[in-house]
Amino acid sequence: MEKVRYERPIIQKMNTGLMNKFGTRTEFEPVTHIESVSVKSLISDYGSPLFVISEKQIRRNFQNATRIFKTRYPKVQFAWSYKTNYMNAVCQIFHQEGSWAEVVSGFEYEKALGNGVAGNKIIFNGPIKTDSELVKAAQNGSLIHIDHYDELYSLIRLSEEFDIKPRVAIRVNMDTGIYPKWDRFGFNFENGQAWNAITRIINSEKLELVGLHCHIGTFMLSPQAYTIAAKCLCELAWSVKEKFNKTIQYLDLGGGFPSTNTLKGAYLPGSDTVPSIDQFADAITDVILGFGFKQEDLPLLVLETGRALIDDAGFLLGTVLATKRLSDGRRATILDFGINSLFTSFWYEHKVSPAQAFGDYTEEMVLYGPLCMNIDVIRESVTMPPLEKGNHLVVHKVGAYNMTQWMQFITLRPNVVLIDNENNTHVIRKAESLEYLESLEFVPEHLK
Ligand SMILES: *Cc1c(COP(=O)(O)O)cnc(C)c1O
Repeated sequence: MEKVRYERPIIQKMNTGLMNKFGTRTEFEPVTHIESVSVKSLISDYGSPLFVISEKQIRRNFQNATRIFKTRYPKVQFAWSYKTNYMNAVCQIFHQEGSWAEVVSGFEYEKALGNGVAGNKIIFNGPIKTDSELVKAAQNGSLIHIDHYDELYSLIRLSEEFDIKPRVAIRVNMDTGIYPKWDRFGFNFENGQAWNAITRIINSEKLELVGLHCHIGTFMLSPQAYTIAAKCLCELAWSVKEKFNKTIQYLDLGGGFPSTNTLKGAYLPGSDTVPSIDQFADAITDVILGFGFKQEDLPLLVLETGRALIDDAGFLLGTVLATKRLSDGRRATILDFGINSLFTSFWYEHKVSPAQAFGDYTEEMVLYGPLCMNIDVIRESVTMPPLEKGNHLVVHKVGAYNMTQWMQFITLRPNVVLIDNENNTHVIRKAESLEYLESLEFVPEHLK
């Protein structure tokens, strides 16, 4: 057993309005292990800071979401959103589980091919697709989701030039009751743009309209918004059948389900307040099943869920560099990772746990990163047991969008380790080195 740590007594002004003498304390137990690997050994083997991903948790999340949808609707297909986390090892877990790939750039498209995903199981989204990428995707039989008229006209031109018949869907945006509206992507439903684009595609006879797509936002807290979105897509598919006698093969409802992180400024923790995937699944499948499609015409339901499937499988381990008192007396704790590594600290109040035993006393403190920048704050205010130089801590639910949006700024990116189902550890991305960074640089002769 570890020796209980002595904490020097201090005199503290009483704050009114706090719930009890422990304040808004949230940490009761140290988090000493990720799966069954100790934080101490992870840091001593792979360094600090360190991203850790649990393979088991990814598979659990995927299987849970699949079960939720498949028990409600007969034809369901998930497509992994590469930009949420595109480390190959992570993508391969999703592909092993049966996920297609959803990409939003040429380089992500190449990554999916490199991961062995069949061309016809790659969904190519987003406003940025070059002519050569469009041709390649069409030749591979990939699903090209058209974002705007310029892309639609390019595709019609390219299909003549290259004698190809691209399989396409259009991205549709609609008023789901969530503001600001996400109307910058795709064709608008209410003003008739979406229907207009559909008629142009069908009348061109150059493109094969196979699906309809929307992605209505991210970290959506309203299942009702998906009811509206699903209705719009169903109406369009219904009209295509009625007016052109063509069956739309799939409806892609995009991603956007929230993880259980807590948004900044939220009154209650995300784990208590965000709707469950069941509620989103009910909202979507109730509409499609109730719409009146003949059974043989029921569209495949495609989902591009990102953050909800991986956020809680990712952890960031770190170390306390120093502690100090701010001029107003508050405790400040300086960590060895900052917002450059933990991009999502801009919008989440990440749960942070000490990784070693602590006493009963807690105190409000600020958690700073190590960057020489005032905005480098991981938590503006958190009530935790006091930490000391050299202590370790664990940041929870960092699996989504950090390992793609992290910045190489002031410090180098750290190792990323995967803990597999048997609790073996594997480096899946090496810490960056100065050599790696400078390998892309050139100094002109006259400056040497
Ligand atoms: C980012 C993105 C997703 C994934 O979104 P989440 O909010 O992480 O579920 C899915 N589809 C498209 C088109 C996206 O841009």
